[in-house]
Amino acid sequence: MLLSGGRAAGVEFVHAGKPVRAHAAREVVLSLGAIGTPAVLMRSGIGDETELRSAGVPVVQHLPGVGRNLDDHIRLPCMWEAEDVPMPVPTRSQAVCFWGDDTRPGAPEFVMYLSPAPSVSAESAAQYPPPERCFTLMPAMRLRPGSRGRVRLASLDPLVGPRVETNFFADPDDVRSALSAVAMAREVGNSAALRPFAKREVSPASFAADTLDLFLRNAVETYWHQSGTARMGRDRDAVVDARLQVHGIDGLRVADASVLPHVTVANTMAPSMVVGERAAEMITAGQG
Ligand SMILES: Cc1cc2nc3c(=O)[nH]c(=O)nc-3n(C[C@H](O)[C@H](O)[C@H](O)COP(=O)(O)OP(=O)(O)OC[C@H]3O[C@@H](n4cnc5c(N)ncnc54)[C@H](O)[C@@H]3O)c2cc1C
Repeated sequence: MLLSGGRAAGVEFVHAGKPVRAHAAREVVLSLGAIGTPAVLMRSGIGDETELRSAGVPVVQHLPGVGRNLDDHIRLPCMWEAEDVPMPVPTRSQAVCFWGDDTRPGAPEFVMYLSPAPSVSAESAAQYPPPERCFTLMPAMRLRPGSRGRVRLASLDPLVGPRVETNFFADPDDVRSALSAVAMAREVGNSAALRPFAKREVSPASFAADTLDLFLRNAVETYWHQSGTARMGRDRDAVVDARLQVHGIDGLRVADASVLPHVTVANTMAPSMVVGERAAEMITAGQG
């Protein structure tokens, strides 16, 4: 990003292998997602001053919250070998299950999708090789997880992606919730209703503590709902204000999932679009 005298003046990007500069007549809107937006902010000198200095980036604006508070939904795929019978279709988004527990009355604590394929991590597939025909139940635990990750600069080269530290399971309550989510997936997958389709449970196929511990470590994955790395607020770690404008920099807005203070208690596409629509309304109304 091009910054001049505390103001976003434009952007620089690579096109056809060449750097191109675009100057902003009014303002710059970053909409690069919860991984890309903090990376560009940091590379432009907006972020935690200690972090920026150690990365060799001249500090333009000290905003310690940039890249912090990486919030996400945590996926724990459990797999079954499928019987040689036609699977019900469509199986993915049309078969969704939300359920709660006593921790947040009135709000779902878990969600689960079904995939007619081995939708598991490489580590989990190494531990439990997927059979030729299988289905996966994919619960997400604690839709408001306690663990928070961080996005950091891995390089000053804009073509090198940032380093993502998910920090999954840093909060012990997330582990408790993960075990509860896996128990529900196993109950559903091994139920009488699914018996015509399920030949045998492949993973985790056990409630033994050491098996489950290793299973969780290998199976844990993102549900791709990354949010919160340039969050809205007025406190020290907030990055944007209620008009999505970056604190301390003129002419710079963020309009993507990184402004959400918490990941939403469901999928994140619709909330991200709402952020974009609100940004468009404020920009066209000239609200600076
Ligand atoms: C595989 C997958 C499946 C998903 N399924 C669902 C679903 O079923 N339902 C649902 O609600 N949500 C789903 N999501 C989540 C949803 O897509 C995101 O929450 C939402 O798109 C976030 O919007 P955003 O604007 O923050 O970022 P994005 O939609 O990720 O947009 C950011 C854009 O910026 C670009 N970008 C990033 N860095 C740079 C850079 N340095 N230079 C140029 N361009 C850059 C990216 O390529 C991307 O096009 C899914 C996400 C993934 C990855």
